Amino acid sequence: MNQLIKKTSLLTTALLTCIASLSFAQEKKVHPPIIDVHVHAMKVNPAFTADMCPWFLSSMPGSGPKQDPPSFINTDCATPLKAATSDEDFQNQLMETAERLNITFVASGDAEVLHKWKVAAPERVMPSIGVAPGMTVEAFKDSLSNGFYVVMGEIAPQYQGMSPSDMSLDEYFGVAEELGIPVGIHMGTGGNGMANITSPKYRASMGNPFLLEDLLARHPNLKIWVMHAGYPMIDEMIALMGANAYVYVDLAGFIWSYPLAEIHMYLERLVQAGFGKRILYGTDLMMWPKLLETSIGVIENANYLSEDQKRDIFFNNAVRFFNLDPNDFEGIEK
Ligand SMILES: [Zn+2]
Repeated sequence: MNQLIKKTSLLTTALLTCIASLSFAQEKKVHPPIIDVHVHAMKVNPAFTADMCPWFLSSMPGSGPKQDPPSFINTDCATPLKAATSDEDFQNQLMETAERLNITFVASGDAEVLHKWKVAAPERVMPSIGVAPGMTVEAFKDSLSNGFYVVMGEIAPQYQGMSPSDMSLDEYFGVAEELGIPVGIHMGTGGNGMANITSPKYRASMGNPFLLEDLLARHPNLKIWVMHAGYPMIDEMIALMGANAYVYVDLAGFIWSYPLAEIHMYLERLVQAGFGKRILYGTDLMMWPKLLETSIGVIENANYLSEDQKRDIFFNNAVRFFNLDPNDFEGIEK
């Protein structure tokens, strides 16, 4: 009897030690770091927010000029992503996810929102500045020189029907080159009917990666990444990256909007062509905080990628591109 009690108590002690070390291990575990290079700091206007189904561009039915314009997003799915309800709600959800999944953001957009985010999580936010309409080159240079902004973007001349090599932008790119600031340029996606619905000047042809060649030739020390990876112009994208060894791409936007099979075909082709070290992870996060998990899941579930290739996309490639120190990030295997 005594023997049995002794055995039981030994077993209990062993079990308790085991549980204690397990919960200790769980407390210590930090998610491997993720750098999301494409986040939009925006004010949430409840009058204009709507829930959204990821991969909503799986169906792009036609309509006519005299009919209602095609709806840009849809909510006809089992689990639409909820829009944030206020600026505070957006920031809280974003920072909670960033902390849990160990995400650092390159974020651009509304300056006030961006400053609030930076105060809330100084280590997790890398502010990025675009060229606002009417902003002089001097004002742009001043903003970049004060140290708050460390990236230039999102530059999106395509929405104005303009090439990224248009000379009206050249001096701004010259400033970035001079200061060693990396630049993100929107090339590619627009969604269904962009030119009909919100941006009549938008031109699909201005998303052609070859249009970057003159800009790159004029600024040989400029470091650019092509936002949205020039989707769907994969051949041109591969040719441009082959000719320009400093050009990277991000996967933002199209990985949660276009059909999944199409997305995986595009990403697999980039990797197969040898550019697995030049792909940056990004969401194009707007008002739907759960997009972070949705987009991360696309890469996590890409079964044609090795674990090392996924880590490159989530983190290592961005560290190299932005000249960061990997030791500044928690949760990396050393
Ligand atoms: Zn974009």
